[in-house]
Amino acid sequence: MLEIKNIHKSFGDNIVLNGIDLKIEKGDVVVVLGPSGSGKTTLLRCINFLEKADQGQAIFGDTQVDLKKASKKQIYSIRKRTAFVFQNYNLFNNKTALENVTEGLIIGRKMTKEEANKIGKDALDKVGLFEKYDAYPGELSGGQQQRVGIARAVSLNPDIILFDEPTSALDPELVGEVLEVMKTIAKEGTTMLVVTHEMSFAKDVANRVIFMDGGVIVEEGPPNEFFQHPKEERTQRFLKRVL
Ligand code: ADP
Repeated sequence: MLEIKNIHKSFGDNIVLNGIDLKIEKGDVVVVLGPSGSGKTTLLRCINFLEKADQGQAIFGDTQVDLKKASKKQIYSIRKRTAFVFQNYNLFNNKTALENVTEGLIIGRKMTKEEANKIGKDALDKVGLFEKYDAYPGELSGGQQQRVGIARAVSLNPDIILFDEPTSALDPELVGEVLEVMKTIAKEGTTMLVVTHEMSFAKDVANRVIFMDGGVIVEEGPPNEFFQHPKEERTQRFLKRVL
């Protein structure tokens, strides 16, 4: 469903992505692990054009796009197929939970307010926040705000949701509720590419784990194999540190 070929990205002299290839099938839950600074977030951002790659191709179904030279129209078409969940939620503080969810539907998808509200309320219901549709972000906990962020992504009905360390800004006691929601939508067959440090999520929910270090994919495999029999020395060292 999504194929990424040979992404390269540097910031000045800092080579952050050094030739990443990635293939994601419909319904896959792919977790990207790796030490801090290994390029995980940059990879996600390049896929969604939040960052412009120096080189690379993305193939979405039957559409092939040059990640460096994509036209505005191509960027729009890929953005329509993807949704992004940010580490810091990225909600509008002056909009209610429902308005945060419906903004993209009304502005981006040109829906009427009534249509958007129906979809938005369903999405908030899915993340357990139906009752809070009228609350502002400031009135919600971090976990609830991130669940609004997930509802916003789900409401767009994208081909794939990209999660960029969705729980790392949260107090530990709030991490569980967000992971639960992610687990639920994964079980429903949502295709997900998730950068996270939550090993339990990788073990329990992912069907594939990718380990990045130094801007390349060092190792990948199904979680059982990856966690129990890591092949590469760099992976073994990383797992020793985090498990
Ligand atoms: P990870 O998600 O694995 O922690 P990142 O993709 O966030 O890694 O960052 C990889 C490297 O790229 C880091 O050295 C970081 O400082 C650098 N980097 C990321 N974004 C920028 C940016 N906008 N400008 C300059 N350097 C950046």
